[in-house]
Amino acid sequence: MPHPTAAEIERAIRNIPDFPKPGIQFKDITPVLADPRLFAGAVDLLIAPFQPGGVDTVVGIDARGFIFAAAAAHKLRAGFAPVRKKGKLPYQTIEQDYELEYGRATVAMHVDALKPGARVLLIDDLLATGGTSSAAAALVKKLGGNILEIAFLIELKFLNGRQKLKGFPVRSVIAY
Ligand code: AMP
Repeated sequence: MPHPTAAEIERAIRNIPDFPKPGIQFKDITPVLADPRLFAGAVDLLIAPFQPGGVDTVVGIDARGFIFAAAAAHKLRAGFAPVRKKGKLPYQTIEQDYELEYGRATVAMHVDALKPGARVLLIDDLLATGGTSSAAAALVKKLGGNILEIAFLIELKFLNGRQKLKGFPVRSVIAY
């Protein structure tokens, strides 16, 4: 079987209207994960510009970002580091606040998650407003990481999330 195209992966993504609240079109990636060929293909497309040896740490964002980032780290023979919601990491952390539609949220990383100068590939499943990924990128910078790219399986273009990620190379596999 040939490797799947982005269009084929897109066809497997399930749109759930009004989840978790009215007006949100939730992009359900579980059908992609459940299909061995599509899951492997999605990871391959996410890491396409990179080779083993070219990335020190893949940083994944809580929670669906972990799934792709861990698989990417394995394939690139890189380490993995999590960006988690505040209060979940057990050791000393640095934290970053960001704006939500209503209110604020905070993400955290362990203080020793990255070696200074580490070449980082930052991965999440989906770019919406960019608040989460820009907070994650700020944490990586604070820890001295060098962000090679911020990669997403899905980008919701109409939300202009890239505006919050100015100064970083941003790539998405599938855009709506
Ligand atoms: P944002 O901070 O607005 O870019 O939101 C990105 C985060 O929220 C990602 O970690 C996504 O997993 C999640 N997210 C936001 N909007 C959606 C959506 N329509 N479908 C699925 N996940 C979403």
